[in-house]
Amino acid sequence: EEETLAMVKPDGVLGNYTERIKNAVVESGFSIIRETVIQLDEHRASTFYVEHSSKSFFSSLVKYMTSGPVLVMILKKENAVADWRAIIGPTDARKAKITHPHSIRAMCGLNAEKNCVHGSDSLESARREISFFFGEISTD
Ligand code: ATP
Repeated sequence: EEETLAMVKPDGVLGNYTERIKNAVVESGFSIIRETVIQLDEHRASTFYVEHSSKSFFSSLVKYMTSGPVLVMILKKENAVADWRAIIGPTDARKAKITHPHSIRAMCGLNAEKNCVHGSDSLESARREISFFFGEISTD
């Protein structure tokens, strides 16, 4: 089995979507191995999204990601990385509402930035992001 890092972003938490998202997680066959609610500061949000640091939307992204608490979860199942990405839908929630109406971003996202959830995009990112939030722990 595989592990991935899932996050309910500040708009998802503040909009009270956490329970609906967690229901979708469990109904899709994932086990929630660890979870924690944290408030990211500017430095930590910038580090998490360092690959986007040269993008025009970076400062706006950091402001969004520090605008309230986030819920981070380690999800486990077979093919967890790709399956969680499929369930959350495309990055731009406006497009998700049209092309993937049953996706999580269609349900609770607003646009290309405020898209309410995150999922690791590869096994390598999953490992990095899990240790970013939970440290180098064994989770089985
Ligand atoms: P995530 O990494 O959060 O799961 P993603 O992999 O679907 O999202 P990325 O391209 O890695 O998308 O972008 C990271 C985040 O940056 C997006 O989730 C979104 O919040 C924000 N973002 C991406 N593109 C834009 C954009 N064009 N304008 C504003 N914000 C954006």
